[in-house]
Amino acid sequence: MKKIYANFLALAVFFMLAMPAANACQDKEYKKALIKSSGHPEYTLKNMKSIIGEKELAKVLKRYDNHPEKYQSDWYQGHDMEGVKHLTYRAGLHSHTVFSDGSLTPTETIDQAAEYGNKVKAKHPFEKYPMIIAITDHFTTKGTLEAIDAIQKNPEKYKNMKLVIGMETEVFVKTPSQREERPLHMLVWCINPYQWPFKQTDYGEPSDNIFHVDSYIEYANRINQLKYGLVSIAHPLRYFDHDETIDAVIDEMFSTFKSVESGKQVYTEGYYQPYRFDVDKDLYDRTAENAKKNGIIRTGSQDTHGRTIFHMHNP
Ligand SMILES: [Zn+2]
Ligand SMILES: [Zn+2]
Repeated sequence: MKKIYANFLALAVFFMLAMPAANACQDKEYKKALIKSSGHPEYTLKNMKSIIGEKELAKVLKRYDNHPEKYQSDWYQGHDMEGVKHLTYRAGLHSHTVFSDGSLTPTETIDQAAEYGNKVKAKHPFEKYPMIIAITDHFTTKGTLEAIDAIQKNPEKYKNMKLVIGMETEVFVKTPSQREERPLHMLVWCINPYQWPFKQTDYGEPSDNIFHVDSYIEYANRINQLKYGLVSIAHPLRYFDHDETIDAVIDEMFSTFKSVESGKQVYTEGYYQPYRFDVDKDLYDRTAENAKKNGIIRTGSQDTHGRTIFHMHNP
């Protein structure tokens, strides 16, 4: 009996160890495509280790769904950096660099993530994802190219962090309960920045390409039809009047977004750091609950624009 138990345990441990590796393997094709389209024949697959692809990221996000602390650098109001000090913070899936309206260079962004990742790894040696950072500039992927290049040139430096290659775009929508059409920001992650449609866009010039649509479903379908890329609603509460219709609007937004039939999971920022400072706590909680009800996985970020990846603006 004991032996059967031991065998079972060994098998379970084997699968636990093999599973993340299998996901990483599935993203091999993505990383190969990045190298091929980069115009840098010197780039290697081995040096792509710190780039995370959509299959691996999807697994991590599913695990973090009910864990706001993974996305919160602060636990309390007042920029006390509790999440950073206690090394509970793990992922910022939305940040801006000097290539749009941010203040950090892409290299500074990943350097800060690497430094923090090293600290987490020192305290938690078995943590597979000490730090995940996404670069999501408005309508441009130029910053991500610089970050990929830095990682390729010095992979050892970035071994305790993962970079999500992303972009922030917008879609113009009006759900039935909305008074007027508003632009809503959408994040795309794990894309190929060297190729159409991401290569064609530029900060300040949202081109009339595939991003210019007026429905969530059409937008999400277009992104999900691409070979590589995940899609998420950014800061869902920012663009609406905080009036009596807000709950209905949020519900319509999430339920239509969820009806995308692509087989890919859709996401929303639920643990959006700055909300805790400017949005009513009840509304914040109700929105997170609504996402859960609609089967949308909640993620989070600081939407960094300042000199640190841990805050929205300078502390
Ligand atoms: Zn935004
Ligand atoms: Zn943003």
